[in-house]
Amino acid sequence: MLARRFSNKNSSSHESWGQRIASPSFRDPLTGLPDRSNFIGQIGEALWRSRRDANYNFAVVALDVRRLKAFNGTFGYNAGDQLLMAVARRLSGIFIGSAELARIGGDKYAILAETGALREAAREFAERVRDVFAAPFDIYERSIAVEFTFGVALGSSAYSHADDVLACAEMATDEAKASRSGIAIFDDTRYAKAKDRLLLETELHSALDHNELTVYYQPLVSLTTGKITGVEALVRWLHPERGIIPPSEFIPIAEATGFITSIDEFVLRTASAQLRQWQERSATDLHMAVNLSRRDLEHGVARRMVAEALKSSGISPESLEVEVTESLAMSDALASITALRELKDDGVSIAMDDFGTGYSSLGALAGLPINTVKIDRSFISSIEADARVKCIVQSIVEMAHTLGLRVIAEGLETQEQLGFLKSIGCDEAQGYLFSSPVPADKIAGLLGCP
Ligand code: C2E
Ligand code: MG
Ligand code: MG
Repeated sequence: MLARRFSNKNSSSHESWGQRIASPSFRDPLTGLPDRSNFIGQIGEALWRSRRDANYNFAVVALDVRRLKAFNGTFGYNAGDQLLMAVARRLSGIFIGSAELARIGGDKYAILAETGALREAAREFAERVRDVFAAPFDIYERSIAVEFTFGVALGSSAYSHADDVLACAEMATDEAKASRSGIAIFDDTRYAKAKDRLLLETELHSALDHNELTVYYQPLVSLTTGKITGVEALVRWLHPERGIIPPSEFIPIAEATGFITSIDEFVLRTASAQLRQWQERSATDLHMAVNLSRRDLEHGVARRMVAEALKSSGISPESLEVEVTESLAMSDALASITALRELKDDGVSIAMDDFGTGYSSLGALAGLPINTVKIDRSFISSIEADARVKCIVQSIVEMAHTLGLRVIAEGLETQEQLGFLKSIGCDEAQGYLFSSPVPADKIAGLLGCP
């Protein structure tokens, strides 16, 4: 099919490649070609058709006239207009009815054509167009060579909007500037990822209002008494279509957009109110650990958020611990450390989460306003396999104790790990061996609350 369309490969006589069918109503006044909005409508139809007909594949090629400004500067604006019209004529001449054409911007044109399903087919198509445009243009009886770049987007079910297809083809024209062939094909997996993230980001903003965020709790168990001393609040997103989305998937997005502060505020409020209920129902000594993001501390909102949660729930500051990650505490962010110190002054405990994953030395712990060190899961899971890890974990426990800090082991999964941690005097542990994070009502059962 492609071979037939491009049978006259280096033709500069611009032999027609079919019969024109579409007669769009919105046209560019200079060239008479359909304009951008019209073209997007055509892409929409092509997307619709490709979803219904597995044999229909299309590509959009964006064509960029390079250095039009310089051309105008050298030859004058009238010559520039002549060139733009000549480009349109050349396009119309070769694609009569076999493709949709448009002028989508000052120096930009686009072609929508049926192609093979593969990238190679689309590339071949673009190469043929490029070869036709390699021939110089006759402007005011001068033969002038003009450079073009070609960006290709394959019509794919990944695209949810027609204008995205065009935008991706245009993005590829920028990439094409750096390529020797003058052609770049947009990688639609990039689009799919970017789009998915964008969608998740949008949905995340309404997730709070739609009550889709909820808090699970994971027990922290004393290794001396075997009793539950506290719980860590861990947020979950109960997405109506995707099911439970773990924090690893949406916390980074929330961090990037700043929405994390609203999430943390919600978790803090919910967890504090929950703790109050459990404390009232006999678990008087239970404490609650809540994760805070670097962003909360940076913007000075942590202290206000914590104060409000304490006030509205009525729990004491001593029963609340905030967890911050090691990288945060070690990033020498003075504002963060000041914020932690303020919280500590208010009576709240501070735990350094995921200890060992960053670059902190044990010595650096001494200068930080913290009460607790949580040894990262990656160490605990390697205890059995690697004798050196045992030594490291033992050193962390000893050093932390020397500094008067409490030590919690994260990610405890086996009896062997438990035996070792007990033998070196680790204070508490948290992990699937005891319980995975669970909804509040399950914790009530574990606590023996009525
Ligand atoms: P984290 O604070 O270090 O929480 C511990 C993570 O380890 C949790 O993952 C927990 O489910 C998991 N875990 C606990 N025990 C085990 C075990 O035995 N084996 C294994 N393989 N995993 C275990 P989760 O709930 O997916 O949370 C991941 C991270 O997301 C948390 O790590 C925390 O950094 C962050 N996060 C969770 N909730 C919040 C929140 O409300 N606010 C903020 N800012 N971050 C949160
Ligand atoms: Mg944590
Ligand atoms: Mg952790």
